[in-house]
Amino acid sequence: MRIRKGDRVRVIAGKDLGKEGDVMAVLPKANKVIVDGVNVAKKHQRATRATMQAGIIDKDMPIHASNVQLVCPSCDKPTRVGYQGEGRDKVRVCRKCGKTFQ
Ligand SMILES: [Zn+2]
Repeated sequence: MRIRKGDRVRVIAGKDLGKEGDVMAVLPKANKVIVDGVNVAKKHQRATRATMQAGIIDKDMPIHASNVQLVCPSCDKPTRVGYQGEGRDKVRVCRKCGKTFQ
C-alpha cells in the first residue's frame, strides 16, 4: 500500500473521477482507502445509544486504492510513488519531481 492516512489523493476512476480529498483511513487487507468526501453513500440510520441521531447521513465508503493517485505535497500533482532507501530509512519519493516524503 503506497497510500497512507493523511495523504491527499485524487480519484482517477469511477463516479468521483477528478475529486480530491484527504485519506481518512486505509484498509490494507481490502486494498482500499476511505477518502473524505469521496464515494459518499446516503445511509439511513436509526437512533441508537451510540449515535443518538436518526435520519439520512452521508457516509464515506471505501474506494479501491488503484482508483486513486497520491497528490504530491511538493509539486501538487497526482503522481506515482516510488521508494528510496531501506528499512527504517525507507521513504516515499514522487516520480514527477523526485522529492522525498514520509
Ligand atoms: Zn512531486
